[in-house]
Amino acid sequence: MYDVRSMNADDFINDEEILATLEYAEQNKHNRELIEQILEKAKPKKTGRGVECAGLSHREASVLLACDIPEMTEKMYELAKEIKQAFYGNRIVMFAPLYLSNYCVNKCVYCPYHIQNKEIPRKKLSQEELRQEVIALQDLGHKRLAIESGEDPVNNPIEYILECINTIYSIKHKNGAIRRVNVNIAATTVENYRKLKEAGIGTYILFQETYHKESYEVLHPAGPKHNYAYHTEAMDRAMEGGIDDVGLGVLFGLDKYRYEFAGLLMHAEHLEAVHGVGPHTVSVPRLRGASDIDPNVFDNGIDDDTFAKIVACIRIAVPYTGMIISTRESEACREKVLELGVSQISGGSRTSVGGYAGYTPDERPHDTEQFDVSDQRSLDEVVKWLMDQGHIPSFCTACYREGRTGDRFMALCKVGQIQNCCHPNALMTLQEYLADYASPETRAVGEALIAREIQNVPDEKRRQRAIEYLDEIKNGGKR
Ligand code: SAM
Repeated sequence: MYDVRSMNADDFINDEEILATLEYAEQNKHNRELIEQILEKAKPKKTGRGVECAGLSHREASVLLACDIPEMTEKMYELAKEIKQAFYGNRIVMFAPLYLSNYCVNKCVYCPYHIQNKEIPRKKLSQEELRQEVIALQDLGHKRLAIESGEDPVNNPIEYILECINTIYSIKHKNGAIRRVNVNIAATTVENYRKLKEAGIGTYILFQETYHKESYEVLHPAGPKHNYAYHTEAMDRAMEGGIDDVGLGVLFGLDKYRYEFAGLLMHAEHLEAVHGVGPHTVSVPRLRGASDIDPNVFDNGIDDDTFAKIVACIRIAVPYTGMIISTRESEACREKVLELGVSQISGGSRTSVGGYAGYTPDERPHDTEQFDVSDQRSLDEVVKWLMDQGHIPSFCTACYREGRTGDRFMALCKVGQIQNCCHPNALMTLQEYLADYASPETRAVGEALIAREIQNVPDEKRRQRAIEYLDEIKNGGKR
């Protein structure tokens, strides 16, 4: 039976409730009055504490997603943009994935790391190779990484992951240091989550892949990941282990997107109901072609318009949750979803083990690659492209370093304060990037953008202080 507070996956991601939600959405998808009411409920409202949004339940949001009235879709897009602006402004947080090891004992049928793939060379970074990768990433200008690894208790035990995290944080190189390491590794025990927390990780990210239990079991036919309940209940264990920033995600293309969408929101509602804080981020990866994988055997692929609508509906339903898009998506697709709600993107990414060190921005090793990267531009190109469209690429990690995680971050976000403190911080970290890593062309565009944007810091004292810091950074000081 559906129970949002149950600790049992079958209850909080309850199949009957999802099917009832889809039926309710189908019945109401042309009910203009209801759709207007739902949009009205979700609008940002001024309160005594600032600007707040109510968000939507999985049922309400599913009605929006099912609605195919073009005029209503336009209204959804307008609302998604308004919410994004209210809580995230025009800032986009930058990160890069760092693949540690592609050894894996699972058999996920869509992933090239599956144990039976004999085409792919297996590789695991030594600590020295990891150092070289991190230095290469720092030389690009990155400050925030997401480490990725296959699941293999012998080759990549938790001790290896912890050692890698320590190595990454310990590397100081020129003006650079990695300030936040997010972790995307397989579901594990409370004890291991506690160790990850102690190692100082940022967000623990784990994609559900699919919320549809039967499909899940077919798509993960063997290995520890086969266990649907263990995988689906992982975020509860992570939170029990003290990790308060967790990142959800669905691999779109595996099953029916409306089912996944309802499941994703039910998962978010469960975390909020039980732990008092929803997911820190939601990722929206789509299935890509890869070694020993034929994406054509999966017939649930979604087109770019449907994808954009999913992003907009997530933005409206969980207004305070960061949304992440990777280089699986093309430049054109990224451009569209950035304005509809995405708040973090990767740039200059390599999805192979050891893909950064020793390669120029145009060279791309494919041998150990996890999937084909669609957006193959360098970080410098992505940063300039973002600024040309009026976004502020941000390398900020201040919230994390100052302990504003979990409900403390959400509290800041909920009263709209995030913008007051994030805007100047984003500009300062962008100035660092421009001074230390950018091409002359990108630097010129960026400095003009900073000069304009700094005027939008409302508090005069804060603005003046930020201007002084920006000057110091430009002149080689203050990092
Ligand atoms: N081993 C960890 C796990 O099982 O969750 C981390 C996995 S992997 C490095 C990160 C993510 O890549 C997976 O969760 C999956 O969603 C995604 N992925 C796997 N195969 C993919 C493909 N062919 N196209 C796009 N994304 C894929």
